[in-house]
Amino acid sequence: MDDNQIMNGILDLCTEIDTRAAVIYKSFADASPGPELKQFWLDMAADEREHVRWWQSLKALAADNALPLIFDDPMRMHNELRSGLDKINRMLQQTDPANITSTFVAGSRLEFFMQHRVFATLFEFISNTTDGVTTEDEYENHVKRFIRAIEHYGHDKPELEILGETLERMWRDNMELAALSNIDPLTGVFNRRGLFQTITPLAHLAWRNGYHVGVIMGDIDNFKSVNDTLGHFAGDDVLRLVARTLQSRLRRSDVMGRYGGEEFLVFLSRVEPGSVAAVAETLRAIVEQETAALGPLPVTISLGACEGMLLDNVALSLDAFTRAADNNLYAAKAAGKNRVVVTRETLQTP
Ligand code: GH3
Ligand code: MG
Ligand code: MG
Repeated sequence: MDDNQIMNGILDLCTEIDTRAAVIYKSFADASPGPELKQFWLDMAADEREHVRWWQSLKALAADNALPLIFDDPMRMHNELRSGLDKINRMLQQTDPANITSTFVAGSRLEFFMQHRVFATLFEFISNTTDGVTTEDEYENHVKRFIRAIEHYGHDKPELEILGETLERMWRDNMELAALSNIDPLTGVFNRRGLFQTITPLAHLAWRNGYHVGVIMGDIDNFKSVNDTLGHFAGDDVLRLVARTLQSRLRRSDVMGRYGGEEFLVFLSRVEPGSVAAVAETLRAIVEQETAALGPLPVTISLGACEGMLLDNVALSLDAFTRAADNNLYAAKAAGKNRVVVTRETLQTP
């Protein structure tokens, strides 16, 4: 299996698990003695069907080869999901839908399993790459709905209560971990991995819709002398300030991150043709302005950028844009630093 097939397999398993959960919750609803409990299980089932729709939208991306490899060890993730699904199926044969404690124990095991980090990673991915869709919030509501019900129906059953508390804590820890692997701990912006993951699907979307895009590479000028003069800790403060400043000037649809040491990359996923120079110039000017208060040593950045339309080999094309932006960055340095050099990408389809 190649990586794309494994990703597809992972999404199929997620779909199967959530579909299974929806059916089970529906059967609990059917066996519920009262209307309130029945409604709760129906809501749980509806949530699961919504999750299935998320996995289907990711499958559409994968079919376009637009889904980056989000997992370090996809085969292991795939196998863990597979064996989890088997376990769920075995467990359900022993569940009595008419017994409330039994249904909540089964529900806890299902929800516990759906806390697998594959799910947290996918939720994190969807919310980074989709404007307006707050999967994390929706999933949090789902987990909370379940925990509230456990508290309500299991208040006199400590074994149920502890299940609810464990689930809530796991959910929080998992989401934090999933976010951390994409974030540069020093500056709090995307690291190279987060950048790559987030840009890939947006670039495909831009190509599909014929949007004009831009790539900007920025590099702090004479940063070595900032470290040498003010010390490494002050250097770190400068990095943080520059990251924050760049981020503050970008739109929600733009992606910014730390590409390397004192280099930042910005991807503009939808821009007016010819406007990237102005965006880069704004970034240059605001960094100069915001760092002026730091002291006598001026902190400036040089920027190289490239704009145009991506070609149908999106990954290769994006690579060419990045390389062109990098070349322009070198040109900006050679021309005296604290300036912007932008070109139009003129690659033709072979
Ligand atoms: P230029 O204007 O040509 O870009 O020169 P420069 O001094 O900025 O570039 P150079 O590549 O020579 O030096 C980059 C410096 O960035 C060297 C390295 O110690 C520093 N650096 C990289 N990462 C960090 C970091 O996380 N914290 C701090 N304080 N410094 C860092
Ligand atoms: Mg530098
Ligand atoms: Mg550098």
